[in-house]
Parts: sequence; C-alpha cells; structure tokens
Amino acid sequence: MEITKFKASCPTCGRNLFDGHPHSCVEGYCPKCKNFYRVSFSDTGYTVSAQTPSSSRPHTSTAE
Ligand SMILES: [Zn+2]
Repeated sequence: MEITKFKASCPTCGRNLFDGHPHSCVEGYCPKCKNFYRVSFSDTGYTVSAQTPSSSRPHTSTAE
C-alpha cells in the first residue's frame, strides 16, 4: 500500500512542518520562526504561502 504524501518544510528556516496528501491544505505556525503558513498540496508538490495575521494582536497568556 503506497500513499502519496508530501512533507512541507518552512521556507524561512527549513524546518519540517507538515505532512500532507495531494489536494489538501494545512495551516499552522512554524515552531521555530513563529511564522504562520498555509500549505497547499497538489499532485506534484506543495506551495507554501506565509500568512500575515490581519490583526497583529500580540499573543498574551494570562496565568491564573
Ligand atoms: Zn520556520
């Protein structure tokens, strides 16, 4: 059984980010450089596009 699967790596720091199947889409943060990426997989590979958040609200966590 062989499943076509791609491994997308971060275009900025090169860290391996996501595994994906063709015609799927994954979004997430790179744990190393903290950029948000959208990865679109196709039959021949994948496309990584950086997403700039519309609201640049800094992430604050309140410890209670
Ligand atoms: Zn990165």
